Amino acid sequence: MILVTGGCGYIGSHTVVELLSAGNEVLVLDNLSNSKVSVIDRVARIAGRAPRFVKADILDRKALDEVFKAHRIEAVIHFAGLKAVGESVAQPQRYYENNVAGTLVLLDAMAAAGVKQIVFSSSATVYGDPEVVPVSEAAPYRPASPYGRSKRMVEELLFDLYAADPEWRIAVLRYFNPVGAHPSAFIGEDPNGVPNNLMPYVTQVAIGQRPELSIFGDDYPTPDGTGIRDYIHVVDLALGHLAALTALSDAPTCLVANLGTGQGYSVKQVVDAFEKASGQRIPVKITGRRAGDVPCYFADPSYARTRLGWTAQRGLDDICRDAWRWQSWAAAHPEEL
Ligand code: NAD
Ligand code: UDP
Repeated sequence: MILVTGGCGYIGSHTVVELLSAGNEVLVLDNLSNSKVSVIDRVARIAGRAPRFVKADILDRKALDEVFKAHRIEAVIHFAGLKAVGESVAQPQRYYENNVAGTLVLLDAMAAAGVKQIVFSSSATVYGDPEVVPVSEAAPYRPASPYGRSKRMVEELLFDLYAADPEWRIAVLRYFNPVGAHPSAFIGEDPNGVPNNLMPYVTQVAIGQRPELSIFGDDYPTPDGTGIRDYIHVVDLALGHLAALTALSDAPTCLVANLGTGQGYSVKQVVDAFEKASGQRIPVKITGRRAGDVPCYFADPSYARTRLGWTAQRGLDDICRDAWRWQSWAAAHPEEL
């Protein structure tokens, strides 16, 4: 059985669908601080069977011990954590407690139970503003926020753990910009309040929940002046976790891989693609740059291709089509969320 912490969240729920579809038994552990338990039913509707679910916090050692005692866990995929960059600047202790201390408690409970296999959700934010694009795993750490530094700390903790005990099997996956939704439309990104990220903001404008999109700067040194990112379909990202588990099943190791497409798109290109996929017009206004934004980054995904045998298969049109399907379904079925 695979334990998925944070499995009710955006990326976790898509990964649980793929794990179940591939024949795995799955136990989701989530404190529901940023998700809804209804996602379990919607995952079951897609996969044809439900994962098990425990409402618990990764900081609760007793609850973790009970989980490891009651189930034969082979591996952990660890998504649980807080992820809002701006919030991490305002509340750093909360971020270090949840993301770093929470992971320490989880790793301790795993070691005590003899479970030494983990896939960890890291982020391209550990690179900060990279000097070279595409960004490879060899780029130096330059995280620019407490959130990014919490990811770096957990990465270094995992490297030290492997150095001390090389029986561990560890995959650190650095995600670029996860977007899109499951093509069934039953699960997708469901942010609380005003979205910070581009794609959920665009979909909320398209459905009429917000009047217009603010484009944060059109004077960057990029072809159309707007920021460039590597947008990766969340189903491709989910499949990257299955590929990582397969790689870990071969032998003890500690690997670090970027999960991105290798292709960058500007904000204006995303808006154009979304208008085409949805048939909706997205009113935009150009505002000033957002503090902390970098002009351009995208992944060098070649290590994931050679080491994990994984590449992203879905492009920007698929991303926009699936994000729009999800937003339309969610707006029409609020009682199911
Ligand atoms: P999400 O907020 O949708 O999912 C995280 C889940 O973890 C939520 O269901 C939340 O309730 C749960 N959770 C949080 N703290 C917990 C705790 N202490 N105990 C138990 N459950 C807890 O976020 P997501 O977008 O699915 O991200 C998943 C992981 O991927 C996070 O670690 C995030 O930092 C990382 N990541 C996300 C992105 C992105 O853009 N979405 C990019 C890079 C990395
Ligand atoms: N962006 C924007 N308007 C928004 C949200 C984001 O123009 O309302 C831009 C942002 O400046 C960046 C890109 O869209 O160039 C992706 O931003 P997002 O917050 O989604 O991801 P991140 O900054 O974490 O890469």
